[in-house]
Amino acid sequence: MTAPSIAIVGAGPSGCYLAQALRKQWAEARIDIFDRLPVPFGLVRYGVAPDHPGTKAVTRQFERLFERDGIGFHGNLTLGRDFTLDELREAYDVVALATGLAADRRLGIPGDDLPGVYGAGALTRRLNDHPDEQGMRPDLGRRAVIIGQGNVGIDVLRLLSKPEAAFEGSELSPEALAACRATPLARLDIVGRSSAAEAKCDAAMLRELGRLAGLSFHFHATLPAPESVEDQAVSLRLAAFHELAERHTESHTESNGCQIHFHFGWTPEAVLGEARVEAVRFHGGESGRETLELAADSLITAIGFAQHDPDLPGAPDAPRPDDQGRLAPGLYCTGWLRRGPRGTIPENRQDARAVAATIAADLVADRAERPLGRPGAAALPAAAIARATDFAGWKRIQAVEAAEAPAGRLCRRIPDLARLLEIAQATPVGGP
Ligand SMILES: Cc1cc2nc3c(=O)[nH]c(=O)nc-3n(C[C@H](O)[C@H](O)[C@H](O)COP(=O)(O)OP(=O)(O)OC[C@H]3O[C@@H](n4cnc5c(N)ncnc54)[C@H](O)[C@@H]3O)c2cc1C
Repeated sequence: MTAPSIAIVGAGPSGCYLAQALRKQWAEARIDIFDRLPVPFGLVRYGVAPDHPGTKAVTRQFERLFERDGIGFHGNLTLGRDFTLDELREAYDVVALATGLAADRRLGIPGDDLPGVYGAGALTRRLNDHPDEQGMRPDLGRRAVIIGQGNVGIDVLRLLSKPEAAFEGSELSPEALAACRATPLARLDIVGRSSAAEAKCDAAMLRELGRLAGLSFHFHATLPAPESVEDQAVSLRLAAFHELAERHTESHTESNGCQIHFHFGWTPEAVLGEARVEAVRFHGGESGRETLELAADSLITAIGFAQHDPDLPGAPDAPRPDDQGRLAPGLYCTGWLRRGPRGTIPENRQDARAVAATIAADLVADRAERPLGRPGAAALPAAAIARATDFAGWKRIQAVEAAEAPAGRLCRRIPDLARLLEIAQATPVGGP
């Protein structure tokens, strides 16, 4: 069978894993990945915490796609701005959307739009120097509340409370840290709807907190004994909570760092304040009928992500994919866009493999109705193609970021889109 031309929109983990699976299927196919930014890898670069460089190392395997496996990278091209979905489907035999879900889900309670309410997605983008958030100077004050006890909530907790010296060897820029921690936090309350046993965070994330100096941990609930549960992940999580609680008893008297308070089983009811956040009210607790009011200068929501584009899956009136990721003939979606904002980087690989298998089966089944042979990027609007950046442009950005690394950091991310584009679009030495 002739190899198809394939466009993937989104160069995050799911777009990269899909390209990997499709390349295995068709060694000869023209496979192009488009991204709105001149830098690839989506949330690996702009979501994963900058003090977790080991997690970000997954990009090395993705780089091989572009360096060795002949996958094209077209950065600085936004679906819906530089080309329409119809134009893309005219140009390519197969189109797969892997644009993720970037908007912070809102609480949907009174006061959730008061000044001083920040989404964890926006905050972690700011801490990762995402060009979209350069204007963000969160005013967190001395007391912040975090709602949501998943791994993203714990990332935010750690990034906001960790002693500055402990960021040595990370990718966190001093500017991003200063922007988000203008005033040192004296107290952080982290509140979840679930019990301690059912909290969504991993034990490893909690144990990492326990290794940080200068923090004290306070638990406003009775923690069940780890031995009382059979599920190993739950038991490990409870053990990690107990370790934090014990560490508090040992060390809180000499600690002058941030106090961290865990609350379980509380549902948010209202954000209170006149001109900005002053407190957050919850109901629930052990009896289910209690009220909790926490004074706060700011509130960070870490309750998941949503679709901001009304035309893409996840938006209320947008088409939904079927169980195999099909949106229409020749049109597919994968990753967070398909499954919702759940799951780690490796979980997108399984998903991408399944979607690649569906694409392969459909191309055989639909051969008569949808003949192959669309030309690919050459058929897209010329003005868009002229704006595109390529993989060599990304490597130049990466080299500059490494060369400009401040002392004690692995790199200095370039937050300014104009500068990123200038470097990516520069004619290489010895080039045409
Ligand atoms: C704050 C945070 C921390 C996380 N930490 C970890 C962790 O430590 N370990 C872990 O395993 N997982 C972590 N995850 C989960 C992991 O990041 C996701 O599983 C994964 O990134 C989802 O991949 P994706 O490709 O579907 O979406 P994304 O990574 O969001 O990629 C989507 C890509 O599409 C591009 N795009 C969007 N719209 C358009 C458009 N209109 N046109 C062109 N391009 C577009 C974006 O620029 C982006 O590059 C974290 C997630 C978050 C939010």
